[in-house]
Amino acid sequence: MKLTLYNTLTRQKEEFKPLDGKTAGMYACGPTVYSTAHIGNLRTYLFVDWLRRAIKFENYSVNHVMNITDVGHLTDDADEGEDKLQKVAQEQRLDPWEISRAVTERFFQDTDALNIERPEIVCKATEHIKQMILFTAKLLEKGFAYQTPDGIYFDIAAFPEYGKLSRLDLEGQQAGARVEVNPHKRNPFDFALWKQAPKEHIMQWESPWGMGYPGWHIECSAMALQYLGERFDIHTGGVDHIPVHHENEIAQNEGYLGHPMVNVWSHGEFMLVDGGKMSKSLGNVYTLADLAERGFSPMHFRYFCANAHYRSKLNFTWEGLEAAKTSYERLFSAVQSHAGGTGTADAEPYLSQMREALLDDLNIPKALGLLWNMARQPEKSQAVFEAATDIDRVLGLRLGQAAEAHEETLPPDVQTLIEARQAARDSKDYAESDRLRAQLLEMGIEVKDTKEGQEYRKI
Ligand code: AMP
Ligand code: ZN
Repeated sequence: MKLTLYNTLTRQKEEFKPLDGKTAGMYACGPTVYSTAHIGNLRTYLFVDWLRRAIKFENYSVNHVMNITDVGHLTDDADEGEDKLQKVAQEQRLDPWEISRAVTERFFQDTDALNIERPEIVCKATEHIKQMILFTAKLLEKGFAYQTPDGIYFDIAAFPEYGKLSRLDLEGQQAGARVEVNPHKRNPFDFALWKQAPKEHIMQWESPWGMGYPGWHIECSAMALQYLGERFDIHTGGVDHIPVHHENEIAQNEGYLGHPMVNVWSHGEFMLVDGGKMSKSLGNVYTLADLAERGFSPMHFRYFCANAHYRSKLNFTWEGLEAAKTSYERLFSAVQSHAGGTGTADAEPYLSQMREALLDDLNIPKALGLLWNMARQPEKSQAVFEAATDIDRVLGLRLGQAAEAHEETLPPDVQTLIEARQAARDSKDYAESDRLRAQLLEMGIEVKDTKEGQEYRKI
């Protein structure tokens, strides 16, 4: 049985093997750190985690690079609107560097809580401005870009394959509704590599083209090239990245290199809420802290996501999460009941079928169904417990964890206070953060501040 993955570029499942036979080079588009990641964003990082775990399960190593977008991502995914981070900084009168630091810290707290393995390399856009300038300069030199009064643009006319990932019908689309607001662009699909910064733009850097800041797409091409080289195995993102961000990355990469950089393009489908889009105006943009407030642990959410294939839409409802919580707790107990058992329940046939499911384009829901069938056998056997913990190397549901540690899940009121203290620290309200620390101590939770953020333990 071989690992197969669906490749968005070819629209088919392909056998996966690292290009060098040993280590999979993976680039994952990381978060835009202007506000706390919501559960949809987290679903995408769970998918990436299941992907890297499945590859490791097949005894390959992984070199997983993830960027932190702390500049350049505009409110319109194309080239219009404002830089998201700049906008929030202005609205809240906060320093953009401070916002990105705090949001990034929070992001990793959430992903750690979800048992998402950290990438081998995490790289920030603002620390790679030089690489982006060099990349842009080379595209200009090779005739793939042009200068306008407001920046440097990629010239898609120079790259006839533009649109191949999303199979865009460029002609049809151009004749259609996309209204061009930038009169200097030669083609509506041309996109910014470098933007001239207006005076009030807080983050700006010197470049051969004056003070400015990079476009969003160039950061991923420049950092992927730096850390993974001219050809690597897998590039991931959410499906929203297919038509703009990744299409543009391909144009940049292939303009620069003269050949493809990425072997497999892999995309996770969206999470919907109550059947529709998550949006601030509908008040349905939930974070992990919102879930904790209602008594759901990160593992309940992980289990909820494990019930849908990564290429299917997943509809979030509170009832659905409640059902996932109940099932997760039952599964946990069922697996634990086999520990040390001397009965004759079957493990091997299930283990090979679960492995087969995981290797078939990450069929986590199917593997979970098989795990249930294995765990609910009335005879108790240590072999079942071991098979479950083995498959949990991919599922990451902490099923083999000692029951006491499982009980450690913090009660929602404690979780809320911890989140509130983080928010107080983020806004430098140290008096409030000290008050919350004292309150937590009274509840038997000791909090320490470390370089990685707050750490807490029951005392
Ligand atoms: P952003 O922080 O906006 O750059 O997004 C981070 C990741 O979350 C990207 O890979 C997006 O494709 C993904 N994403 C955004 N919204 C959703 C959603 N509703 N469901 C799943 N993934 C999402
Ligand atoms: Zn990206």
